[in-house]
Amino acid sequence: MFSKIIINISVENLDRPFTYRIPDRLTDRCHPGTKVLVPFGNSNRMIEGYILEIIDHADIDESKIKDIDSIVVEQSANESRLIELAAFIKEQYGSTMNAALKTVLPIKRAYKPKEKKTIEAKADTEVIVEAYSEAQRKKQSAKARLLHELIEETVLDYTLVTSKLKVSVATINSLQKAGIISVKSENYFRNPVVLGKSREKDISLNDDQKAIVDEFVCDIDNDIHKTYLIHGITGSGKTLTYISLIKEVVKRKKQVIVLIPEIALTYQTLKRFYHYFGERVSVLNSAMSPGEKYDQCERAKKREIDVIIGPRSALFTPFSDLGLIVIDEEHENTYKSDSMPRYHAREVAAKLAQLTNASLVLGSATPSVESYFRALKGDYKLFSMTKRATGAVLAQTMIVDMRKELHDGNKSIFSNVLKEGIADRLNKGQQVMLFLNRRGYAGFVSCRSCGVVMRCPHCDVSLSEHLSSGKLVCHYCGYEEKRPRICPRCGSKYLLGFKAGTEQIEEEVHKLFPDAVTARMDADTTRQKGSMEKILESFAEKKADILIGTQMIVKGHDFEDVTLVGIIAADMSLAINDYRAGERTFQLITQAAGRAGRGDKEGETIIQTYQPEHYAIVHAASQDYRAFYDEEILYRELGGYPPAKEIVGILVTSKDKALAQTTCEKMADYIRKTENEAEVMGPAKAGIGRINDIYRFIFYIKSNDKNVLIRCKNRLEEGLSLSSRLQVNFDFNPLNPL
Ligand code: ADP
Ligand code: ZN
Ligand code: ZN
Repeated sequence: MFSKIIINISVENLDRPFTYRIPDRLTDRCHPGTKVLVPFGNSNRMIEGYILEIIDHADIDESKIKDIDSIVVEQSANESRLIELAAFIKEQYGSTMNAALKTVLPIKRAYKPKEKKTIEAKADTEVIVEAYSEAQRKKQSAKARLLHELIEETVLDYTLVTSKLKVSVATINSLQKAGIISVKSENYFRNPVVLGKSREKDISLNDDQKAIVDEFVCDIDNDIHKTYLIHGITGSGKTLTYISLIKEVVKRKKQVIVLIPEIALTYQTLKRFYHYFGERVSVLNSAMSPGEKYDQCERAKKREIDVIIGPRSALFTPFSDLGLIVIDEEHENTYKSDSMPRYHAREVAAKLAQLTNASLVLGSATPSVESYFRALKGDYKLFSMTKRATGAVLAQTMIVDMRKELHDGNKSIFSNVLKEGIADRLNKGQQVMLFLNRRGYAGFVSCRSCGVVMRCPHCDVSLSEHLSSGKLVCHYCGYEEKRPRICPRCGSKYLLGFKAGTEQIEEEVHKLFPDAVTARMDADTTRQKGSMEKILESFAEKKADILIGTQMIVKGHDFEDVTLVGIIAADMSLAINDYRAGERTFQLITQAAGRAGRGDKEGETIIQTYQPEHYAIVHAASQDYRAFYDEEILYRELGGYPPAKEIVGILVTSKDKALAQTTCEKMADYIRKTENEAEVMGPAKAGIGRINDIYRFIFYIKSNDKNVLIRCKNRLEEGLSLSSRLQVNFDFNPLNPL
């Protein structure tokens, strides 16, 4: 047996592993992540390294390969754990070890810590006063300014002195030489968290919350580390429960990772956590500068922080004593990576918790069907919170059958009740949210004479019209062209733009309620960094009466004065050809409904749909998760979908269409012939058959046993000859149709 060993683990060294032989006496104890001592270089001096991979044949001349000397035993070895985690990701999701390591080692290089320089008074006050009058007499005004400040305050910020007081470095140096001041410099780590103490009161826990905390504390004190699923309706007090659990863990000198579904929610979560943990809580996310990110990792290593908050990549924070991982809104799709390796943070968190002896807490108002399934099976400990902690009641919900509206002559996008509801709220000075349940739908342009739709020449998708620039844009490859004035196929002048759904709603609102101020939040209005926060903020400050948007507006934002939520096309997400359509529809409607009546005023939700009898809509309207789950799981079992069965999608892509297609066919055939515990579906052209001139073919493998799928993946990977002309991607339990 041989192994690939890395001497200095950092991203830029990953491409230079060395091959060593594993002597028989050590084979049982060597695995990815093991720290070892190896002879290195001509002198064979002993140095430390980490095993990245075990390989069964040497990739270089065997006679030149040296033996591993021994194993280094070390407690809380972060690097070892990260390598183990990378090996897990490689095995579970299909990727190279390199790509997996780059996922877990996100910081590219060491950044110098920032310097903080100060100027301090060294001499006594009398001496300084003396020097000050002398400088004044000699008309040395810069020197006088600095000395004058030093009479008031004994420590000054260096940059403040040079910039605001405009004192030159030469002047500072001369005062230093004279022994009047001293310049000190100190390294410090950037702390991205700058908050005042918030006014959140210390609240005592209610019985539901106490029960969870008590059981959790009992478990950890008995060294039992489980996965807990907290199913609590919106406003039931989940966040406060997490905070209490975290306090217990921190008290026991351990650290905590809190995952949130997206960066946009960081600030509001952080604000609440800061109240309890102050400077010992920090954030980590891709919006931070590399230096800031690096410093958070250093602070984590040095135990300057106890709690880190961030999206899925925060999972790889190098804590040496991890005690707990919390995943809030665990059902969210953003926990799954959308690039290779396509790992799911929930699964990787479970592995990390196992490696570190930590607990895992999942929380949601609408748990993923997978997690609830595991909880009912007993793999997870389930807690349910069914009441709002503040005593507020859930919004009244009402389903409106849009078929009937049309039948009765109402051709508008709004039902009569919704129109009346909006008018009523505008009258009362309350706010309204209109949620268009439609994902990724942007405007497109077509010809009224011949029906042709303007499409991207490089992708199998239609182009979207950008009103501001007058251009047609491809959202997949970035291709742009000027909006043509006549039809490129038939020459007709009648080219019709179909507006994005949200724009259409906004227009309709303006027609019906000319005085209402609207704000719109969709892919188009949030293209710029920070624009989403701006829209939300202005709505919170009541600068708009009506907020119109796609699913972005339903996530965790609290607006006290919103008393009406209208869901425009509740069934739109059911039309998507995907076994998760019902689940996603249920989640979106429940979340949207949860936005109404967050303050002390009662709320109302109006759900407009063409399928009022669909179980996802019926149970979302009655806010009955369990009833939804019971129907959904039956459907999954009948159809053989996760979590009843496991699925892996294999996407084969190439510029050469025939190559992609035949490779995909060969792979599918091979599995069909050799695996009798697996079921193969396809191959077929992928949902979007071409992106950026790259052709895409797909097939799926299903099995009761995930290990069978991993075996299939490993064998397919082995059979592949690496080629830049062809790419193969694995996607386990894909969230979106490929
Ligand atoms: P969730 O995370 O489940 O949506 P939160 O933890 O945000 O719920 O709590 C919702 C509201 O209820 C917050 O305003 C919070 O301050 C309040 N709250 C939570 N727990 C309690 C409690 N034990 N007593 C009183 N109010 C509470
Ligand atoms: Zn035409
Ligand atoms: Zn394109």
